[in-house]
Parts: sequence; structure tokens; C-alpha cells
Amino acid sequence: MTLASRLATVDERIAAAARAVGRDEAGITRIVVTKFHPASLVRELYALGVRDIGENRGQELIAKRKELADLDGLRWNFIGQLQSKKAKGVRAAADAVHSLDRDKLVTALEVPGEDPLDVLVQINLTDDPARGGVAPDAIEALAERVESAESLRLRGVMAVAPLDEPAVPAFERLAGYAERVRAISPDATWISAGMSHDFAEAIAHGATHLRIGSAITGPRPPQV
Ligand SMILES: *Cc1c(COP(=O)(O)O)cnc(C)c1O
Repeated sequence: MTLASRLATVDERIAAAARAVGRDEAGITRIVVTKFHPASLVRELYALGVRDIGENRGQELIAKRKELADLDGLRWNFIGQLQSKKAKGVRAAADAVHSLDRDKLVTALEVPGEDPLDVLVQINLTDDPARGGVAPDAIEALAERVESAESLRLRGVMAVAPLDEPAVPAFERLAGYAERVRAISPDATWISAGMSHDFAEAIAHGATHLRIGSAITGPRPPQV
């Protein structure tokens, strides 16, 4: 299969999953995750109409954005674990950071006086702190911290489904967490969830931003 046909197939499956639950697919943004692939793949995706790109490493996002500066209207989403010392560089290159999961990152991403950066609070759906994301009982405190940061705009929540649990109950919990964040910040309506293997389930549970890699790009090259 070609890149174009994989993209078209995924888009048909997104439309079907939205129809199945009575959702308007216009409310769903499909982000193509291009990590470990060369910038040339992003250029091919752009020619196919893709505008929303996801990367999980700061250096890689920064380098690709620079290399592809001639492409108008690309939106870069940072979706990986972020170290505070890399935060300013990522802020400067990303249009949205999906993986804000601790107070320290609020401080590190804040640049008073700058145009607000779109951020999502990442929530851990597992009991393993190494998986990234704020623990559910600390959601409100973190959301309030983000709300009070003038150069950050809280857009919603992000999560990765656990490996050892079916996606559906995890995405049900996420929908509840998203509601708790909206109680603090009514405009924080994004739910970033759903990957190659579980995007239909994510759509059924309210995902607004899907992060789809291999189903569109094909297998990733080995991590360097
Ligand atoms: C790599 C990655 C994805 C995409 O995963 P696929 O299974 O290739 O669709 C989505 N979200 C995050 C946070 C990732 O790191």
C-alpha cells in the first residue's frame, strides 16, 4: 500500500467510527505522528493535504520544523515526555504541547508576554508513574496552575491507553477526567486520545484529536 492509500483508509475508518456514534467528523482532528521518519515523509504527507503533525522528541520536532519552514500552515504537536530544560526550545517550535504533566513544566513553558501556547494536560491512565501523565487525583491542581499561567492556553486533556487493559474503560475514565478539567476551564474541550490500534474506541469516547502513526506511515524506522 502507498502512503496515500493508507492515509485514505485511515480517514475512511475515522469517518465510519464517527458515524457509528453519531459524531460529526468535522470535530475530529487527525494528527499524523511522524517520529523517527525523515522530514521528507512530512513533505509527502503535506502534499496529500495533511496539516497536523505529531512528534515525541523535542530535537526532532525542532529540526524538522526548520527543514520544512517553506510549508505554510503545518501545525506541529509535541506529544512526548518533556524535560524541563528542553521546554523553551519545544515551546518555540511547537504549536501545541499535549504532554504537560507536572508543575515544573508549567514554570518551564511560561514566557510572560509571549502569545499563548496551546497546552493539554496529560493524564496517566495507569498506576505506573514512568508512563507519563499526572495522576488523576492531581488533575485539578495542575489544571489550575496552567490556568494561572498567562502565556499558556489550556485546551484539554491527553492520554495514552494502558498496555495491560482494554482501551474502552480507560477512555471512559478519560472522558470523566476531561469533564473535571472543563469544570475549571470551560474552553478546554480537546481530548487527545487514540492511536493506530485504538482510534475508533477513542472516537466513541469523545476524542477530538487522534494521534495516528504507523497505520498511516507504515512501520517506524528503528529509533536512533
Ligand atoms: C508514537 C505515538 C503515537 C502513535 O502511535 P501509533 O501506534 O504508531 O499510531 C501516539 N501517541 C504518542 C504519545 C506516541 O508516542
